[in-house]
Amino acid sequence: MIKNHLSSRTHSDDPSKAHTSFNSQLNHIVVIGASHAGISFADQIRKNGFSGTLTVIDRQKGGPVERPPLSKGFLLDPSDKINPAILLKKAKWYRSQNISLKHSVNVINIDATNKQLLTSNGEEINYDKLVLATGALPRFLPSSKNISNVFVLRQPDDAIALRNAARKAKRAIVIGGGYIGLEVAASLRQLGLVVNVIELANRLLARVASPPVAQLLEELHRRRGVSIFTGTGIDKILEEDNTFRGIVLSDGTLLSAEMLIIGIGVTPDSHLAKLAGIETERPDGGAILVDERMHTSDPSILSIGDVALERGNSLRIESVHNAQESAARAASAIMGTTPPLIQAPWFWSDQFDASLQSVGIIPTAEEGIYQITRVGNREGGVSFWSYRNQELIAVEAVKDPKNYMIGKKCLETKISPNPDLIGNLDFNPLD
Ligand code: FAD
Repeated sequence: MIKNHLSSRTHSDDPSKAHTSFNSQLNHIVVIGASHAGISFADQIRKNGFSGTLTVIDRQKGGPVERPPLSKGFLLDPSDKINPAILLKKAKWYRSQNISLKHSVNVINIDATNKQLLTSNGEEINYDKLVLATGALPRFLPSSKNISNVFVLRQPDDAIALRNAARKAKRAIVIGGGYIGLEVAASLRQLGLVVNVIELANRLLARVASPPVAQLLEELHRRRGVSIFTGTGIDKILEEDNTFRGIVLSDGTLLSAEMLIIGIGVTPDSHLAKLAGIETERPDGGAILVDERMHTSDPSILSIGDVALERGNSLRIESVHNAQESAARAASAIMGTTPPLIQAPWFWSDQFDASLQSVGIIPTAEEGIYQITRVGNREGGVSFWSYRNQELIAVEAVKDPKNYMIGKKCLETKISPNPDLIGNLDFNPLD
């Protein structure tokens, strides 16, 4: 057997770390993935009283960082370093919480029968409970593989590469008019690049935002000089000496640029779950299926964050809020503590000077959903209230935190303000 120090070390070997765990069989919890979900879980399980050995593993190098800034302020930052403000936790937090963070370590297999995992450096680590917080991988266009100056954005290294290229480029093309594509487009435009956004659907944000929000953001981008092509596919990616040169659109338009950013969504990284024989959405992969307490089909393995999908739901949520909430649910399930209160799903996006906050889920493909516009007090502030019949289902607010908070409260307390009145700012649904 390869060296196995963690499997043999429990707190009963170390009296200074003696613990009174909820479950005496629970000595070692291992988390794969040190991002929003994995780090939130580590934080929560300690808060819930787990004092056994806690190991968090990630193949990324360095301290775990927040993802949202990577498409926003990070790209605008003239420095070459990672601003410590975007670290998920400071180094001393891991020490104070007695968390063993193993970065630059890839987990390559899980032996669920023997509750053991194998890492890329040959280490075998035993666990009592395993948490899969492996997130998602950005989709790539097969025709752009092995061409330099083509980027996806998920990890800090992706953002560093993108930022370095943007400093030398004059023109960029972004494929995908979702949140990440639009945020990158706004950042690159602010750096002075000529930016074209290409979206296959006939509007921006087609899967994730209501039509009026998409229209407002499209107008904002156009006003700030971003060119947007909707309902347009890619016919060809042009390269010379393996370096990106431009694209030909499905209508024959030729666009030249020095860099291409692909923001066409992600696929859940359930590769390890498949190897462990854990149930996933489809026989060939997809999200890891969990119950409402984040247990997978293996009772010793839980899954949280972007990679997990609750059985019976068709929609997987990709957001910081979902990562944190699913982490808190898993921590309470393991420790037998009261589950956290479930909040309405929330999300935010920053593009140019517009900050969008949204709460609730808009089933964009569903017929019969309509929006009422409520103009805010602040200049440029507006919120869009989405209804199914008379029922409020989501609120999206641009430069309007006050109405976002009112909408959030309505959704969480199941108040559906009268849609005939909500457009009037004098009407406060919480009065
Ligand atoms: P991830 O963040 O994907 O982390 C998974 C981790 O697991 C990775 O670090 C990976 O290296 C590690 N891993 C996977 N497999 C292995 C393995 N075998 N061995 C070791 N390590 C492994 N959400 C918002 O709510 N608001 C925003 O404004 C927003 N902006 C975003 C901007 C960008 C650029 C990106 C990329 C995302 C943004 N999101 C935003 C989404 C949000 O960041 C994700 O929902 C969140 O990161 C999901 O967290 P996670 O921990 O589930 O997964």
